[in-house]
Amino acid sequence: MPPAARTPCGRFAPSPTGPLHFGSLVAAVASYADARAAGGRWLLRIEDVDAPRSVRGAEDAIVAALAAHGFAWDAPPLRQSTRTAHYAAALAQLAAEGQVYACACTRRELETASLDDGESAYPGTCRAGIEATRARRTQRSLRILVGDAAIGFTDRVFGAQRQALGPAIGDFVLQRADGWFAYHLAVVVDDAWSGVTSVVRGADLLASTPRQIHLQRALRVPTPEYLHVPLAVDRHGRKLSKQQGAAPLAGDPCEALLAAWTFLDQPAPLARPRTVAQFWAYAVPAWQPSRIAIDRARSVPA
Ligand code: GLU
Repeated sequence: MPPAARTPCGRFAPSPTGPLHFGSLVAAVASYADARAAGGRWLLRIEDVDAPRSVRGAEDAIVAALAAHGFAWDAPPLRQSTRTAHYAAALAQLAAEGQVYACACTRRELETASLDDGESAYPGTCRAGIEATRARRTQRSLRILVGDAAIGFTDRVFGAQRQALGPAIGDFVLQRADGWFAYHLAVVVDDAWSGVTSVVRGADLLASTPRQIHLQRALRVPTPEYLHVPLAVDRHGRKLSKQQGAAPLAGDPCEALLAAWTFLDQPAPLARPRTVAQFWAYAVPAWQPSRIAIDRARSVPA
């Protein structure tokens, strides 16, 4: 018997590090148009798992800006800060199956602050046990074994992707030295729990996707479809973000929606919408992700 079809479900998952800016609006527009065009649900998740980076008041500002731009979510926003029991349960499951180990390596020892794009892979120093490495080292983080598998998936814009996790990333952190659960674990647990079938987000996360698929397989939860959209960057090639001084969205919401729509290579409406409701009435049936050019980053005027 074929597996039961899952109800289409998309989501937007902003980190509350500042108010909504043009870059985050692009991801929101793409995920919303895609979910609604599929007749699906759309959820909002506040990614405050990294509480030290979260900015007070940012969540309210994001929610207000989304509402002003005509977004409507189908369930109360899910806050990652309320979900630690779920992350702990997933970690316990992986640990019980022998897929997780304690790591004593410090950032300084690894010479990198994290293992994102372009940084070196974790060499597996503590894989055989902390005691096996050197005396007087204590557990700092928990890592998952990645083994030898290469993870492949087909992105709806970027096409076939493949990454050998071992050489590219190495065993990655699920719980950090400060006790916080890692973003990858939280995203995978939450997407599965919410029944998300389609992940639409910025191309800065394309290289993170194999890690998330590895976790989905380890936790035996379904893998959603992925669609990554070009990342909005400033003229120095940096991701727009509050920390880099990206301007919060101000002015006419319709104009901002149309600018995001154009950024996503979508066809302009013949008549300019006057309200956000008119914009969405046009945009949802007009959404054509196949028009999005394969472009990891695009600069936007300051
Ligand atoms: N919280 C991430 C961000 O703001 C998005 C994560 C995701 O969509 O999976 O960049």
